[in-house]
Amino acid sequence: MKEVRLSPELAERMGRIYEEMERGYEQVAAQLQFSCDGCPDNCCDSWFQHHTFVEWGYLWLGFCQLSEMRQAEILERSRLSVAACEQAIARNERPQVMCPLNDNGRCVLYAHRLMVCRTHGVPATMQRPDGQRLEFPGCFRCQELVKQTFADASEIPRAERTLLLRGLAMLENELMDGKRHLYPRIKLTIAQMLVKGPPMIAMPHCER
Ligand code: SF4
Ligand code: SF4
Repeated sequence: MKEVRLSPELAERMGRIYEEMERGYEQVAAQLQFSCDGCPDNCCDSWFQHHTFVEWGYLWLGFCQLSEMRQAEILERSRLSVAACEQAIARNERPQVMCPLNDNGRCVLYAHRLMVCRTHGVPATMQRPDGQRLEFPGCFRCQELVKQTFADASEIPRAERTLLLRGLAMLENELMDGKRHLYPRIKLTIAQMLVKGPPMIAMPHCER
């Protein structure tokens, strides 16, 4: 196993993609006059799995900047979160467990938070490599707003994510020395990533 570590150049490009995602989100949110203010829900307890080593590595860079005491505290919360999610799954329930990086409503690693933390909320669209166009309706609250505001679905403002996701896939491949296709897809929650530590990969099968 070897650690996959983001170079400063790769980390900077990752940061730029994240900033671009946020800008796209904010533009659509402004058009819709939508915000999270006053929401009874908190998306930080939603169960999301994440799929790229590059996002994991970027999160880990942020985690390493915390003091040892903070790291230990968050790791303990992460272990409890993983256990609580496993128990919910064993009961055939979708886990609803607060993210270990949420500190009384504030994200401890705000600058390093993952894509879904920056994009969930407003409607979005993207084109898959096979040409199929996917549409995401946004969170339940935004969907209600959209329903009240737009009779014609074609008029709904949407964040366009195709180029950003392509950029993310490109970074992921560069991080894996151009051999991303040789490694398995990952499906990890933030708590699982933190408990596992930095992203590690086994050498691809064909190179053993
Ligand atoms: S994204 Fe939607 S559901 Fe989540 S906190 Fe904001 S308004 Fe609430
Ligand atoms: S990383 Fe931050 S924004 Fe994302 S779910 Fe955790 S606390 Fe919330």
